[in-house]
Amino acid sequence: MSTARLDKLLANLGYGSRREIQGLARAGAITLDGADITDAAARIALTPDLPERMRIDGAPLDPLPGLCLMLHKPLGVTCSHKEAGPLVYGLLPERWRRRDPALSTVGRLDKETSGLLLLTDDGGLLHRIIAPKAAVAKRYRVRLARPLRADAAALFASGTLMLEGEERPLLPVTLEAEDATRCAVTLTEGRYHQVRRMFAAVGNHVEALHRDRVGGLDLPADLAAGAFRVLGAADIAAVF
Ligand code: URA
Repeated sequence: MSTARLDKLLANLGYGSRREIQGLARAGAITLDGADITDAAARIALTPDLPERMRIDGAPLDPLPGLCLMLHKPLGVTCSHKEAGPLVYGLLPERWRRRDPALSTVGRLDKETSGLLLLTDDGGLLHRIIAPKAAVAKRYRVRLARPLRADAAALFASGTLMLEGEERPLLPVTLEAEDATRCAVTLTEGRYHQVRRMFAAVGNHVEALHRDRVGGLDLPADLAAGAFRVLGAADIAAVF
């Protein structure tokens, strides 16, 4: 079982500088199993139940590193650490934005796409999910400006569709029509603006785009736009 120095652990979780953590410890604000820890240099065993056993100012400790979340991304927020305007990270608790390692989105959704977005501070997990060989399926619900072409599903499934400006055809994509202008598409690649460009390639235009599934993980109906949930090992296993 790995251990960490209390002041480093809490500083990396965004609770303050190591000096500030030392102040919190001296003030009796940190407890483990109900007992004060006044020595900020104490080594703490990083057991999975630590967040329930440790209290900071009476509140349970934040999730330990190795965190993975699902966020119901609303429209109008950007998947970026850098760009101006509202960012997905602004939907997380303020302290979580100071975590080291930092949380990153697993791939991206466009500013004007809503739905299931994963975030993690685990670089290995992130790469396992987005690796082409993992071929994790992503399902999008699409509303189109014009009725679907009759041959769209066959063309998407053919593995021959070329996107403008690219040299390799897309891998097969499944299209399930819901009505004349609504459908679901399931794809395993993640090319830039892929869904919008696929429909542009068949003479249509995407008016609304929402992702509701990644691998075997569904966006829960009770997770409101802008809300998030911490994932457990079973949820993460469902992605693959
Ligand atoms: N395809 C797009 O065009 N946009 C997204 O946000 C995701 C997939």
